[in-house]
Amino acid sequence: MFIVQVATECAPVAKVGGLADVVYGLSRELEIRGNAVEIILPKYANMRYDKIYDLRVSYQDLWVPWFGGAIHCTVYFGFVNGLKCFFIEPHSEEHFFDRAGYYGYLDDHLRFAFFSKAALEFLLKTGKRPDIIHCHDWQTGLLPVLLFEIYKYHGMDHPRVCYTIHNFKHQGIAGENVLWATGLGRPWHYFHRDRLQDGYNPSAINYMKAGIVYSNFVTTVSPQHAWEARYSDQGYGLGHVLYIHQNKFSGVLNGLDYDFWNPKTDAHIPYHYDRVERLGKSLDKQALRHRFWLAENHKPIIAYVGRLDWQKGIHLIRHGLFYSLWNNAQFVLLGSSPEAGTNDYFWHLKHYLNDSPDCHLEIGFNEELAHLIYAGADMLIVPSVFEPCGLTQMIGLRYGAVPIVRAVDGLLDTVFDWDYSEKPRCERNGFVFNQEDYQALESAMARAIRLWHEDKNRFDELVANGMACDYSWNKPGQYYLNIYEHIRNK
Ligand code: ADP
Repeated sequence: MFIVQVATECAPVAKVGGLADVVYGLSRELEIRGNAVEIILPKYANMRYDKIYDLRVSYQDLWVPWFGGAIHCTVYFGFVNGLKCFFIEPHSEEHFFDRAGYYGYLDDHLRFAFFSKAALEFLLKTGKRPDIIHCHDWQTGLLPVLLFEIYKYHGMDHPRVCYTIHNFKHQGIAGENVLWATGLGRPWHYFHRDRLQDGYNPSAINYMKAGIVYSNFVTTVSPQHAWEARYSDQGYGLGHVLYIHQNKFSGVLNGLDYDFWNPKTDAHIPYHYDRVERLGKSLDKQALRHRFWLAENHKPIIAYVGRLDWQKGIHLIRHGLFYSLWNNAQFVLLGSSPEAGTNDYFWHLKHYLNDSPDCHLEIGFNEELAHLIYAGADMLIVPSVFEPCGLTQMIGLRYGAVPIVRAVDGLLDTVFDWDYSEKPRCERNGFVFNQEDYQALESAMARAIRLWHEDKNRFDELVANGMACDYSWNKPGQYYLNIYEHIRNK
């Protein structure tokens, strides 16, 4: 099968969060299984160009219709860890992707509507006719609309679209001007509750809703989240749309790229280890302490790695930090936020705790350091308010850092409590708490810290259980192929 992924992130070149890992990991798995996969991305100015091999111009003069005229683009090609990637670079005064960050600009809805249109224009002009176009999140929600309302009539009637929602919170809301910009026009047609009209604001269109309505199949990133999106407030207003389209909607648990995230071969960690021989992990713990000037004492290291967003339970992360320091544990944090206020808050915390020998906060994005933290930490907290799938807990399991998670969405699908799960003991792999308050977090952290201090053998057993889990792309890769086959034959 010929599959094209259209996304705004791909690890490790353009990564903000889990979306990047999924695009990379799924594409690799599909290729290993004998499919032809290509990835189309924006050519951001701030990408990791050092991770792209043999970057060169692939298509010089791509003119993408936009409002009444057209924007001139150059398309580059390069390999990202062996994957074929195309990067679209528009030349216009808006500098759509020539900016300091990836997201968070007032014209994001125009930037990514343009990207969706440019991706289709590129496929059209180069005669590429994939069997499947797989789009991700709100940024590419308009792509199936453009495909089935415009490009289909230019000869692209073959591709089918699979649309994956990684986060319902960000849906892409825009006004009528996007319809004119992309050439869709006809507001009277699209401003309809069965098509693009936003459920809250009748004079706005909703990109994610567009993706759900127009795609041949829609997935979200874990079975539990698929349920929550339909039946709880986690669908952020799209529950009814999902109900209408329930026959083409399901949850597929994300996988983890087990080659990229492998403590046995990881180039970013100084000592290697596996489930059976874990001496390397204790040496990595020492290395992590050296790196962060932490004291060498008999305490577990508890870590947080991730975006510093309300969704991630910032109040609980902060509380987890102090709880660790009061209860015989060390704490390490690596994270950043697009909001200056949140970053400032954590910078203040960092200065306040500057002299603590048991704590280190690293504010920013640092892929290499993330690997060292997963390898060196004994435990990982993931106290999210909601977490569609969550990769950090899976990475933690793979690296022997026991996850302490809140019982929501994908976390519920992947972490099973050591004391209370109904699973057999050999399948229990972490600590789980339910409520979104300090006492609940403390109850789980207390159990974890106590086990570490008081029963080393049992704690080791728990670590080994986690490392034995298989959250690779093996199973989800097959699920996606089944979905592709299903829609291809329609
Ligand atoms: P989300 O997609 O909501 O951001 P996930 O848990 O699905 O959360 O994925 C987070 C991914 O991003 C993981 O691979 C994690 O290691 C990585 N990550 C998040 N923040 C940072 C950071 N500050 N530095 C390095 N890696 C990070």
